[in-house]
Amino acid sequence: MRAVLGGGPRLLLRRLREVMAEPVSAQARLDKIVVLIASNMVAEVCSVYVLRADATLELFATEGLNREAVHLTTMRSGEGLVGLIAQRAEPLALSEAQAHPAFSYKPETGEEIYHSFLGVPILRGGNTLGVLVVQNRASRTYSEEEVEALQVTSMLLAEMIASGELQSIVRPGDDIALHRPLALTGTAISDGIGLGHVVLHEPRVVVKQLVAENVSGEMRRLDAAIEDMRENLNRLIEQGDILGTGEHRDVLEAMRMVANDRGWMRRLREAIATGLTAEAAVESVQNDARAKLQRSTDPYMRDRLHDLDDLANRLLHKLTGQSFVVDRASMPDNAILVARTMGPAVLLEYERARLRGLVLEEGGPSSHVAIVARALGIPAVGEVANITDLVETGDAIIVDGTSGDVRVRPQSDVENAYAEKARLRARRQEQYQKLRDVPAVTRDGIEIKLHMNAGLLVDLPHVAETGAASIGLFRTELQFMLAARFPRMREQFNLYRTVLEAVPDRPVTFRTLDIGSDKVLPYMEKMEEDNPALGWRAIRIGLDRPALLRLQLRALLRAAVGRHLRIMFPMVACCAEFDAAKGIVAREVAYLKKHGYATPSALELGVMIEVPSLLFELDAICAKADFLSVGSNDLVQYLFAADRDNKRVADRFDVLSPPALRALATIAGAGHAAGKPVTLCGEMGGKPLEALALAAIGYRSLSMAPASIGPVKATLIAADLAETEAFLTPLVGAHDGMPSLRAHLRDYAEKSGIPV
Ligand code: PEP
Ligand code: MG
Repeated sequence: MRAVLGGGPRLLLRRLREVMAEPVSAQARLDKIVVLIASNMVAEVCSVYVLRADATLELFATEGLNREAVHLTTMRSGEGLVGLIAQRAEPLALSEAQAHPAFSYKPETGEEIYHSFLGVPILRGGNTLGVLVVQNRASRTYSEEEVEALQVTSMLLAEMIASGELQSIVRPGDDIALHRPLALTGTAISDGIGLGHVVLHEPRVVVKQLVAENVSGEMRRLDAAIEDMRENLNRLIEQGDILGTGEHRDVLEAMRMVANDRGWMRRLREAIATGLTAEAAVESVQNDARAKLQRSTDPYMRDRLHDLDDLANRLLHKLTGQSFVVDRASMPDNAILVARTMGPAVLLEYERARLRGLVLEEGGPSSHVAIVARALGIPAVGEVANITDLVETGDAIIVDGTSGDVRVRPQSDVENAYAEKARLRARRQEQYQKLRDVPAVTRDGIEIKLHMNAGLLVDLPHVAETGAASIGLFRTELQFMLAARFPRMREQFNLYRTVLEAVPDRPVTFRTLDIGSDKVLPYMEKMEEDNPALGWRAIRIGLDRPALLRLQLRALLRAAVGRHLRIMFPMVACCAEFDAAKGIVAREVAYLKKHGYATPSALELGVMIEVPSLLFELDAICAKADFLSVGSNDLVQYLFAADRDNKRVADRFDVLSPPALRALATIAGAGHAAGKPVTLCGEMGGKPLEALALAAIGYRSLSMAPASIGPVKATLIAADLAETEAFLTPLVGAHDGMPSLRAHLRDYAEKSGIPV
């Protein structure tokens, strides 16, 4: 028997479209739809089951089964044939349904007289929203075409469910699954709490035209769009100039591979042949692929899903002419951006005032977009699996960038709790704001200078906002990481000049390029190293590629004409490296003078203490350097041989342990003895309890993220430093194998009324 009967899927789709447009109630519409499908498929039964938030499938409409069963018959996902389809997200066709081991009998439906059964999942974005079933009294075999026809039809139902229309016919408390609240967890990448509404960074295309008027016309449209997309991909790959979009070369290569995949092309053509428009065919094929791949636990397969998704998305945008980017003007002013991945430059293009948060499927704490999110003060959570498939534009959403929690469509009590948390935070910020112009002087009169770390133009207003002493670490590599190619001398000069102008009366400490390891420049040839953290990075690159370093030094020296300039070098491992770096600076200064250029009024050259070897050469390095800055992030990672970005080991060892604190105290002591200023600019300096410990072991200057200045200041001004030192010194000096002094110090702070 020829597959699709009663006029074929095209006629059915057209009729269904008409029904979708009729001004009738949701229930009446569903009732009409099942009648139409049953008659078109020459089936005695057609039923629609919708997945509820409690993972139960509820019969929402039927033609052929007992009408009384509608909204009464339910089954759990995984229970019975319908439950099995929902769970596997795959069609099921049986000529003898009752012989299937999963068959479960629901007496109220009267379905025992039907022998054959065909059911397909109702899918959207790879998620199951329900199940569509046809049944026949006679025992018969459903053809592949019939399965496909029913799948196509189910897309319409998916649209209807997603539109929210069915919400009007659910019983209170029986929300449909698509609108259920979700509690997800990812990795906290930028502090803060944001409440708002979802804005999909790459808006999902809504396919409105499902039914093709002319099959060969649709084939031509598909071919043209694919050809166009292939050319586009080739161009992007050739240009290699793709930074800022979050697309790296290998992603594009993978997409190109899929675009040339014969199986994929064949499936698209087959879908068009059933009567779909080119865009509906892309959506249908992609729905299928998603449902299959999402259930895969193989990371390689999941990556392929991303490539496929990207490709399908591009194709859909091309075919429908819908914009690939959010219409910025129509963004709500409490937008929470949701994206699979995002380049840092793209985030900067959004209007900051409208952004309340960011949620990404990819992107860990050291990703570039995370750096920018922190600089902009946008609460952000990364590594949230599947988030783009789990939300719809406009959904209510909460981002907790401190804990890594994301709540989608939260219930009102959850929303209230977070709103309260956000208010508390805001109140605390206000308190810190009041401390802005108060110097960080301890109760016993010791001043600790609190500087801030920066690296982007968007950081600069924070100097005034936080009352920072100055910029204690300007990470120059961020500009390089965000650029599409090596920044030219003029571009570097402009940035440094702008930074110096933003802090007119105090010296700013610039760090020379610290690239390599986790800091990757996409346009620089990738080095394959087994241990990049121990590899060719930072000053090692600078000394091996002096042209690069010289260019940067020249830009710095020229930008700071007439100013007090401080430059420091990262990852110095021995005195000879520092000597070599100083030699390059001296040559640059001589060059500028020789050519009649003005130079800075004062120049200080410092060394970052990040490699433990320098701890055993402290006197020598102090004699050579004008100042020291402890990069505790790296120093601690090398001291404990624990990768700072590896979640498994990063928190295994505590910076507040006697060995770490003794190392840090030794550096501060050597600096003081030599009369050389010492600052600490790693993350620990920005944590109140750690900052208290650092002050107690001799640090008088710290540099930290802007948001940390208020909390650290509040801690320090409440402390009596002599007393804290007297408490901590014996603990740090004790050789009793204590893994951490954290609990002791916290206890001490609480008893002494020091907020930490
Ligand atoms: C550090 O290592 O502590 C530091 C400040 O440098 P970065 O975090 O940029 O490596
Ligand atoms: Mg470092």
